[in-house]
Amino acid sequence: MAIATINPATGELLRTFEPLNDSEIGAKIDLAQQVFLKYRHTSFDTRSHLLNSSAEILEQDKAKFAALMTLEMGKTYKSAIAEVEKCALVCRYYAETAPQFLADKSVETDASASFIRYQPLGIILAVMPWNFPFWQVFRFAAPALMAGNVGILKHASNVPQCAIAIEEIFQKAGFEAGVFQTFLIGANKVADIITDDRVKAATLTGSEPAGASLAATAGKEIKKVVLELGGSDPFIVMESADLELAATTATSARMLNNGQSCIAAKRFIVTETIADKFEQLLLQKFQALKIGDPMSTDTDIGPLATPNILQDIDSQVKAAVNNGAKVLTGGNPIDDRPGNFYPPTILKISKENPIAKEEFFGPVAMLFRVKDINAAIELANDTPFGLGASAWSNDESEQKRFINEIEAGSVFINGMVKSDPRLPFGGIKHSGYGRELSIQGIHEFVNVKTVWQK
Ligand code: NAP
Repeated sequence: MAIATINPATGELLRTFEPLNDSEIGAKIDLAQQVFLKYRHTSFDTRSHLLNSSAEILEQDKAKFAALMTLEMGKTYKSAIAEVEKCALVCRYYAETAPQFLADKSVETDASASFIRYQPLGIILAVMPWNFPFWQVFRFAAPALMAGNVGILKHASNVPQCAIAIEEIFQKAGFEAGVFQTFLIGANKVADIITDDRVKAATLTGSEPAGASLAATAGKEIKKVVLELGGSDPFIVMESADLELAATTATSARMLNNGQSCIAAKRFIVTETIADKFEQLLLQKFQALKIGDPMSTDTDIGPLATPNILQDIDSQVKAAVNNGAKVLTGGNPIDDRPGNFYPPTILKISKENPIAKEEFFGPVAMLFRVKDINAAIELANDTPFGLGASAWSNDESEQKRFINEIEAGSVFINGMVKSDPRLPFGGIKHSGYGRELSIQGIHEFVNVKTVWQK
């Protein structure tokens, strides 16, 4: 894919960028390594101060950063503002908590003193997607930089200006040049970078093929990788649930980021006794959403990020219908305007439909009916993915079963799956491995060193 800004709401090519050549890449890795040798000795106070300054810049210029995201990948401006604010939050969170998360931890043994010390690894490569172009990067960078690592970012090719802006934020905050660098490169350069001896580990948020490819290369080099990949998360609604609230939340959970979120609820699994009622409520709410210019504050649904995503969604919906799914609303691209617009769509579908196991990365909800909680849990787990599940029930014994039996990195009861700096975030099965955020996130890219002294 060319490195370029193309407005998804209009299809207009706004700017293109030359990718770095091999010698430029080499020079930037050199710089990162040189800077790491000094930066790893900085105090937590210094790093916290720099990260708090980054948060201030994000907050001061949030309108500018939000508009850039909307321009490059089409998320609504109001959601882009919320994204910038969340980036400031994660900076402040780790600025405050990292010193205690990374403090020496003493353990009593037969030694005179024994303890655990957390030390930085060095250069960490971050390969990031376009869907939350600021949040995904800050979620990685805040803990990594607080731990004393340095970062290189290979961002998605359709958000180059966001990638450049992020490097500028860290520099303006006072981080030495080289502590965090954006590499404008294609995916074909990632393997060379991870095989460079000076690069110690990598994190990738994106699709399964990209994750598998990076992990295979890193595996050969015995390098640590964290993978945050796709999901087809269940949203289960039982008879005792507050149906109105569940349907409102279901709509937000599916339409998050114009439907392009890994943790968006994608499979709606509803018990037969309340299925007709829930279906009606969901239909009303989907049909009430306003599609339009993502910059406009009353728009709920903007364009999909690229024409390819639009094409993929269209093909998946057609394949689902050819295999017996019924369209309750939507179902065809919007072709009376430029840009990559697809309407909120509900597919009534059975678990035998081969498309039911795929991830829909756009505003399409799959609606399933089940007879009881056993069937709901079985269907929820019948997926290659395992990121975050949402289950709606006011019955305590059902809640316990969802918590214990759903195969996913997180389970939310009577709420929408969302990331929170205070809680670990990540998946199991084909949704990836490793965790971001919370104490677990900052421990991913450190040497957990055992010290034993007599
Ligand atoms: P993608 O194509 O995998 O792209 C993600 C990043 O990986 C981009 O920077 C891309 O670069 C790069 N890349 C692509 N192929 C690669 C390869 N073979 N080797 C190394 N790097 C490679 O994913 P996407 O389509 O942008 O994002 C959608 C997917 O990401 C969905 O499945 C979604 O669920 C998942 N996702 C997961 C999370 C999570 O936290 N679990 C969050 C957001 C998204 P180019 O742009 O240059 O191709």
